[in-house]
Amino acid sequence: LKVHAIPMEPPLADGGRLVLVLSDRTRERALERTRADFVANASHELRTPLASLIGFIETLRGPARDDPEAQQRFLGIMAEQSERMRRLIDDLLGLSRIEITEHQPPTGRVDLGALVAAEAEAMQPILAARRVRLEMDLVPDAVAAPADPEQVAQVVRNLLDNAARYGRAGGKVRLAVGQAAPGGRWPARPGVVLSVGDDGPGIAKHHIPRLTERFYRVDRGRSRSEGGTGLGLAIVKHVVNRHRGQLLIESEEGAGATFSVWLPADPATS
Ligand code: ADP
Repeated sequence: LKVHAIPMEPPLADGGRLVLVLSDRTRERALERTRADFVANASHELRTPLASLIGFIETLRGPARDDPEAQQRFLGIMAEQSERMRRLIDDLLGLSRIEITEHQPPTGRVDLGALVAAEAEAMQPILAARRVRLEMDLVPDAVAAPADPEQVAQVVRNLLDNAARYGRAGGKVRLAVGQAAPGGRWPARPGVVLSVGDDGPGIAKHHIPRLTERFYRVDRGRSRSEGGTGLGLAIVKHVVNRHRGQLLIESEEGAGATFSVWLPADPATS
């Protein structure tokens, strides 16, 4: 709690007055804390691959100087670590761009079905590598507006990417786009819903409220080996907030996970 004592001038005959302004700084402190944690986490995440690169450079210059086979192996690891740093920097920049726009409402329109079909097509190599079958149920004319096409595309990519990576290898991913029934689980206003469901191991209940925190992972090792940055769902949450939308995460351990995003609909088409 911060107390500002502001003496009032000129003093009154009764000896003067004092105005006390009381402000609760709990929220401000929590925000400062979150920011400090974020910088510490981001630095740590970048430092790990960097330390590995520095280590391998030393090895290539010294012990592995005359060992072409080891050199090739180490260069492969170095390429992976550099790629990991690039992904992390891309996501950090993406997140900060979204934060900058968070207080400006979007202005565009997004045909959600067309967007999801295009993103699913682009994701085919990853899905094929994990032998994941896609089931799509996309209605035409599900138009989100006002919406930012690039940001909504990012939401679709991140959710689909997670379903492919954390879902069951050889399993299936259901992609659905439709008009939202107003009321009930969704806002009373017209809206469209995108949902991405997998039949993977799912997520234990106590993790669910924390999934959209930056760098929060259920299984750190798994996320790392899958090339995750820990920022995907934080980006999804920020985009949804900017659109005044909603994100719903439903999962049970052993029974897959479904991520649904509600976005406001274009009044002209709903
Ligand atoms: P990451 O880069 O680690 O994937 P995200 O923010 O996208 O970061 O996801 C955070 C964590 O949520 C992941 O590390 C993973 O543990 C969990 N997660 C996300 N999607 C799923 C899913 N479809 N099934 C199971 N766990 C998931």
